[in-house]
Amino acid sequence: MSGFRGTTMVSWFVLAIGFGVYLLCGSAELQRFEHPTKSDGSLSFLVIGDWGRRGGFNQSEVAFQMGRIGEKLDIDFVVSTGDNFYDKGLTSEHDTAFEESFTKIYTAKSLQKQWYSVLGNHDYRGNAVAQLSPLLRKIDSRWLCLRSFIVNAELAEIFFVDTTPFVKTYFTNPDGQNYDWRGISSRKRYITNILKDVEMALSESTAKWKIVVGHHAIRSVGHHGDTKELVDLLLPVLKANDVDFYMNGHDHCLEHISDTESPMQFLTSGAGSKAWRGDTKEMNKESLKFFYDGQGFMSVKLSQTEADVAFYDVYGRVLHKLNSSKQLLLHQSI
Ligand SMILES: [Zn+2]
Repeated sequence: MSGFRGTTMVSWFVLAIGFGVYLLCGSAELQRFEHPTKSDGSLSFLVIGDWGRRGGFNQSEVAFQMGRIGEKLDIDFVVSTGDNFYDKGLTSEHDTAFEESFTKIYTAKSLQKQWYSVLGNHDYRGNAVAQLSPLLRKIDSRWLCLRSFIVNAELAEIFFVDTTPFVKTYFTNPDGQNYDWRGISSRKRYITNILKDVEMALSESTAKWKIVVGHHAIRSVGHHGDTKELVDLLLPVLKANDVDFYMNGHDHCLEHISDTESPMQFLTSGAGSKAWRGDTKEMNKESLKFFYDGQGFMSVKLSQTEADVAFYDVYGRVLHKLNSSKQLLLHQSI
């Protein structure tokens, strides 16, 4: 018996050391989810951000139009760029805001698909861990929110990045806000690991389209503007790995900005409810393709050779479109 107990103790000791090493490194490969394309090989989805206000500030009107456009495009899933629940995320897995701001708002048939969500800074002001809980998926099976993860949809790979911990001022000068930093014992180590994981996953990706989603903008002329930490740390990784689109929320607007040195496009969809902030920052006119201060959302349609992105207002009217083309690889025969 004592031998058995001894072996068990050794096993527990080894497990404890292993877990300690895991906590210290804090790094594991990013969790991956497979999402099949349509039978014709295409893929379409909607992108919405900064939305959960129990239907207020036109959230319900935007949701209605998302349902209509979602039906038209036969969408495969929805992407949420964060700030999912205002003003301070969820209080727990049992917070009624989850159903009042999500389940009972996005009721259209076409929106009964998987939702892939990241956390925004407002989500971190509540119980951030609650939004990651599998319990929420029991209340509404569409919900999937994680910190950083990958959706592999065959012709496109979408890399979701937890951008809130990148922003240093939330740690050093939180302006009276309490952030839920559980699971992030060291900011520096946390973001170093994300960058390493994203860089590795991007470099190994063979997808036709590489899309990165975060809450904070890399480039924006909206109220918050560029996020310096992302410009310094994340942008070089995206450029080095031929990312096609960076999609974000945070600024409550719709916008399209082109990178000056690469084919990458910056797309903001953070207009799911409260908007009309009324202030903008300077940017050279060549980069800024489109900016709209009001409510709305974005759609993305992908095929092997074409990407079609459209922005819609609260009435479902198309405000701006962009198209990117890729050459099919031709095999030469001698
Ligand atoms: Zn935000």
